[in-house]
Amino acid sequence: MANGFVFYRGPSMIDGKPIIAVATGTERGSRNGKTGGGLIQTWILREDMSPVAAVNSGEDASICGDCPHRGTVVSGKNTGRSCYVTVFQAPLVVWKAATQKALYPTLSPVEAGKAVDGRAVRLGSYGDPAAVPAEVWKALLANVSAKAGYTHQWRRFPALADYCMASCDSEADHAAAKAQGWRTFRVRLATEALKPHEIVCPASKEAGAKTSCDACKACGGHTAKARVDIAIIAHGAASKVNAYASLRAA
Ligand code: SF4
Repeated sequence: MANGFVFYRGPSMIDGKPIIAVATGTERGSRNGKTGGGLIQTWILREDMSPVAAVNSGEDASICGDCPHRGTVVSGKNTGRSCYVTVFQAPLVVWKAATQKALYPTLSPVEAGKAVDGRAVRLGSYGDPAAVPAEVWKALLANVSAKAGYTHQWRRFPALADYCMASCDSEADHAAAKAQGWRTFRVRLATEALKPHEIVCPASKEAGAKTSCDACKACGGHTAKARVDIAIIAHGAASKVNAYASLRAA
């Protein structure tokens, strides 16, 4: 049986270009320690080009919008990308499986919702959830046990606040997102203090990696039980942390 399915194929809500959204891990859990083995992953990808080609041409704007972690394209090559997702790994594998090998069935949003009934779902393991229509997410997530979602497109897509946290890269972002009524997930420097109503992500290194997202369930926007905002110190490979620091300094 296929270990996933396509639950959206159509125009990006960000720029109208063709995208697909694929859920994986429906049969076997992922081995990602932070998100948890039982979490179903979702991948939002350009349908008409590989994620590697999209990143190196700027066409990833269709699935990432104006996220500051996309980097800049110079002479057909991306430079300064600070996104933690390595697109030549899982996103490329999923894209090939979905578009070249046709390994995944396509389910309607309602069928997709039944397929993930009672499971925990990560919105946008790669790609911003805002690229997929909010009503598709609503159907997919109708009966899940938990969800974790983050969007850098919170200024344009308020309907996602039910399912996603506003991704904030600065104190100014955080203040603006709070003014718009979002719950927030803020990446901070180690020198920056927590804000009122913020807690440290319990899966973070600084919190001792106590749990995983499918157990924690905090990052599900307004439909999660948690009401707090979340903060995490910039983490990952040194190159990514340095790129984040440069972004903050710019
Ligand atoms: S706060 Fe909880 S749900 Fe959010 S990223 Fe951390 S572990 Fe995952």
